[in-house]
Amino acid sequence: MTYDKNNIFAKILRGEIPCKKIYEDEYVLAFHDINPQKKIHALVIPKGEYVNLDDFSSKATEKEIAGLIKGIGIVAKKLDVSQAGYRSLVNVGENGGQEVPHLHFHIFGGEKVGKMVT
Ligand code: 5GP
Repeated sequence: MTYDKNNIFAKILRGEIPCKKIYEDEYVLAFHDINPQKKIHALVIPKGEYVNLDDFSSKATEKEIAGLIKGIGIVAKKLDVSQAGYRSLVNVGENGGQEVPHLHFHIFGGEKVGKMVT
């Protein structure tokens, strides 16, 4: 699996393209989606170069894996959606509908998010 260093999230990570940042630490960057599908729609991405969840689960270090999962929880708290609830999902590859080839977790909330798959 070859990582495309010119994908849009790689550019955001390098600061070449702006984003509405929510949170950043050693392992993750979180920002608001440019085209929100719910009242709250955030993206949490690892700082490492991983194409998708498959790539990440096979190559990422334990620290990176823990950092990403913890990051999602931190971002949910920062967005104040933890109590009321939210949905986090990952699209993987063509059948999964993934458009940007850098692993990202979506966080949807701020309202009822509806059925799981449409
Ligand atoms: P995917 O379909 O790959 O799971 O989701 C990609 C997401 O990235 C989409 O929800 C899309 O709106 C978002 N997106 C694409 N380009 C940009 C961008 O330049 N900035 C931000 N903040 N989000 C983007």
